[in-house]
Amino acid sequence: MLPLIYHPVYSDFPLPDGHRYPLQKYRLLFERLQRLALPVEFHQPIPATRKVIDAVHDPAYVSQLLAGDLPLVKMRRIGFPWSDALIARSLTSLGGTTLTVDHALDSGLAIHLTGGYHHAHYDFGSGFCLFNDLMIAARHALTQPGIDKVMIVDCDVHHGDGTAALAADHPDIVTFSVHCEKNFPSRKPPSDLDLPLPTGTGDQDYLSAFLPLLDLALAQYRPDMVIYDAGVDVHQADALGYLALSTEGIYQRDSGVLSRCAKHDIPVAAVIGGGYHDSHTSLVPLHEQLIQAALIHFADFASSSEVS
Ligand SMILES: [Zn+2]
Repeated sequence: MLPLIYHPVYSDFPLPDGHRYPLQKYRLLFERLQRLALPVEFHQPIPATRKVIDAVHDPAYVSQLLAGDLPLVKMRRIGFPWSDALIARSLTSLGGTTLTVDHALDSGLAIHLTGGYHHAHYDFGSGFCLFNDLMIAARHALTQPGIDKVMIVDCDVHHGDGTAALAADHPDIVTFSVHCEKNFPSRKPPSDLDLPLPTGTGDQDYLSAFLPLLDLALAQYRPDMVIYDAGVDVHQADALGYLALSTEGIYQRDSGVLSRCAKHDIPVAAVIGGGYHDSHTSLVPLHEQLIQAALIHFADFASSSEVS
C-alpha cells in the first residue's frame, strides 16, 4: 500500500476572504483520494519538535514566530496573519514531511499531501513558508542508516531560494531547482543545480530540458534518497506561475521523476508543493496525478525489507 501522509489541520487555519493560499485543496484532495478507494494507506503526522527546527533555523526567529512576536513586516513577508492554528498547522506539516521520509525509507515511496516550504530561510519566512520542511526532512534523512546524500528535486514553478541558501554549506544535501526564471522570488541564491525556464515554457521544452538533466544529476551525485517537490503551479492555468504545462505534461514530469528514481533504487519522499487557483477544487486533479503516477511506479521501488 502506498503511504500517504495527511492531517486535517492542513486546511484548518484562519485566512481573510479572498486570500491567495489554496487552503481547502488539502482537504479536498484527501477526500477525493478516500473516495477513490485506492491501494493507499493514510498516516497522520505529529508536530515537529523545537529541537529539529532549531537545527535548521535561527532559534530567535523560531521563538518569535511560535510566540506570535514576529515583527509585522516579517509576518507580511510570510503572507499569513499569525494565529495559534497557523502555528499548529505549520509544526504538523513539518512533522509530516519528516514522516514521509520515514515511510519512503520503509516502502521506497511515500507522498505528503502538503509540504514544499522552500521559501523559508534561516531567520525569516517568505511566500507562505514559515519553516523549511524540505531541509528539515533532508537533515532527518541523513540521520538514518545508509543515507549519506539526499537530493532535493524541486519542480515547483518558484525557485527554491530558502532551500538553496540553507543547504549551501551541506555537501550531503544536493539542491536542484527547476523554475520559471521571471517569477518569485526576485533574488535566487544558487542551488547546486538550477534549471531556469523562460515564461511560457510548454510540455515539450520543459520535459526535454528537465528529464535529461535529472538523468545526469542522478548519475553524477548518486543520492541515497530524493525529496521531490511536485508543485503543480507550472500548470498553464495557474494563478502564480508563468509556465504553460498541460495537465498531461505535469503527469509526464511526475512519472519521469518516479520512474528514474525507481530504476536507480532511490527512495522518494514526495510533497505536493504549490498550485494556485481561485477554485481550490480545480487543483485537486492536478495533484491527484502524482498519486496516480506513484501507484503505477510503486511496485518498482524496493522496500527496505526487500533490499536487506
Ligand atoms: Zn510555487
